[in-house]
Amino acid sequence: MSNRKSDILSEIDRVAREIVGPFAPKADADGAFPEPSLSALAASGAFGLLSAESVGGKGLGLRQAAEVIERVARECGSTAMILAMHYSAAAVLEKYAPEALRREVAKDRLVTLAFSEAGSRSHFWAPVSTATAVASGVRLDAKKSWATSARHADYVWSSKPLAAEGASTIWFVPRTTAGLTVPGRFDGLGLRGNDSAPVLATAAVIPAANQLGADGGGFGIMMETVLPVFSILNAASSIGMMEAAVARAAEHAKATSFEHLGAPLRELPTIRAYLARMRVMTDQAKALLGDTLSAIESGRPDATLRVLESKASAGETSTAVLDLAMRVCGGAAFRKEVGVERLFRDTRAATVMAPTTDVLYDFIGKAVTGMDLF
Ligand SMILES: Cc1cc2nc3c(=O)[nH]c(=O)nc-3n(C[C@H](O)[C@H](O)[C@H](O)COP(=O)(O)OP(=O)(O)OC[C@H]3O[C@@H](n4cnc5c(N)ncnc54)[C@H](O)[C@@H]3O)c2cc1C
Repeated sequence: MSNRKSDILSEIDRVAREIVGPFAPKADADGAFPEPSLSALAASGAFGLLSAESVGGKGLGLRQAAEVIERVARECGSTAMILAMHYSAAAVLEKYAPEALRREVAKDRLVTLAFSEAGSRSHFWAPVSTATAVASGVRLDAKKSWATSARHADYVWSSKPLAAEGASTIWFVPRTTAGLTVPGRFDGLGLRGNDSAPVLATAAVIPAANQLGADGGGFGIMMETVLPVFSILNAASSIGMMEAAVARAAEHAKATSFEHLGAPLRELPTIRAYLARMRVMTDQAKALLGDTLSAIESGRPDATLRVLESKASAGETSTAVLDLAMRVCGGAAFRKEVGVERLFRDTRAATVMAPTTDVLYDFIGKAVTGMDLF
């Protein structure tokens, strides 16, 4: 590993251990946005990991971003998802935004995706919200159903095209744009710190120059740029949470004893077998993600299929691994001190984050039977 890579990754490791981890219980209990964790990550250079060095970024690749998300997810699922969404949006801005904005994003300007809508729900590739040319720019009207970091980030936003054929057009939308509102606050089952709220746009006007890519070119941007980054990083986040669950459940099995028998939990073959299954499932998801990254890096023809598989696999596996972690740790797992119940709740988001596992299975099934995906 070059010094440049190892320096940033070891600094992020320190930030994860010293700041992200200690803040995680508060993010979960209070639904608090993890500001201290994100400030420290920005200061470490993490926001610009995927941005070019010419705009102040680190110029690293998806493999290193996956490493970062996995490391952060071991401490705090909310922070990992905020950073994964930042990287997904930043990847679009790196390709289509002006240099000044790319510089800000690489430094400390948090960004996110605002794709999902109340109308088309998890079918993010088919927005029903509109963009209309007006004298002062482009008017957006939308009911976005979810945007991670809704009150804290600026948005990479989808709408129907202005005038062109095609399913969508992508925009950069500052959250301070007049006409945008974020109703209510996020009070979710898991990832409680990540401010995943709806965003409404009513006659919100942005400059026409905020268009990212061609009018009607949104589908291509979603599939070629966003899908690989988001799917890989979502998988990495699930894997980080599985790693944390294996470590915490194993520690509990070592450290907790039946005093009357003079034996720790790990003396029970069933407990060891559950832990073994957790380890095997975690390694399977990790190996598939590693192979997916190799497929992308070497331009293998199965790269897109692997991308879909790795998100489905890691999302489903993490749910199963956390079910087992709850079993291994018994009644103690229902309380906070073992540290698995937060992971149990946080992992569940991966299966319903679009493309949801059901949609991925449909796509993968179509691919293996030689059908078009759309
Ligand atoms: C914590 C969290 C953070 C999020 N952050 C963001 C964000 O930053 N930006 C963003 O754009 N979105 C975000 N989302 C939204 C997410 O990507 C999905 O769009 C959303 O979770 C879908 O919820 P829904 O109720 O609309 O699902 P629905 O679309 O109503 O789906 C309901 C069920 O139907 C299944 N289903 C749907 N279509 C099919 C199909 N074709 N075949 C088989 N089954 C199908 C689904 O798998 C699901 O089980 C976030 C979601 C969560 C939970």
